[in-house]
Amino acid sequence: MEKMQLRPHHVFCERFLKVELPDRGSEFEQVQQEIKDLIETDEDTQVKIIEGVDDLCKVCPDLQDDRCQNLFGNEDAVRKWDGIIIKGLDVSYGEIMTSGDWRRLIEQKSPLDFCRNRCQWKSICTVFKSV
Ligand code: SF4
Repeated sequence: MEKMQLRPHHVFCERFLKVELPDRGSEFEQVQQEIKDLIETDEDTQVKIIEGVDDLCKVCPDLQDDRCQNLFGNEDAVRKWDGIIIKGLDVSYGEIMTSGDWRRLIEQKSPLDFCRNRCQWKSICTVFKSV
């Protein structure tokens, strides 16, 4: 099955953080939905976890000069969060697993310490409902 490349917070958070971001355009929304479907219900798609700009960032208007320039967290900040999330998942950059295996790992590990202690969206995130 086709491989998708995603940074840690896009693998981990998409199924929990239910925010709509119409400003980012229809292509962004479409890829965002693909990720949600992948992590929530798909089983066999190969998903690689990568550092930096990924398949969702590539269709985001906040991406400039190959870096995230979002006001709530630019590429440097986001890479730090990604680094903590990937540690919490206990995997390494470059790891490839099926969508089903990612789902089971996320279910086993969530919520992360990062969710409880550091995340700026924790008050609106559904990750704590799955505890
Ligand atoms: S609390 Fe933050 S880090 Fe945790 S799943 Fe929600 S958005 Fe992601």
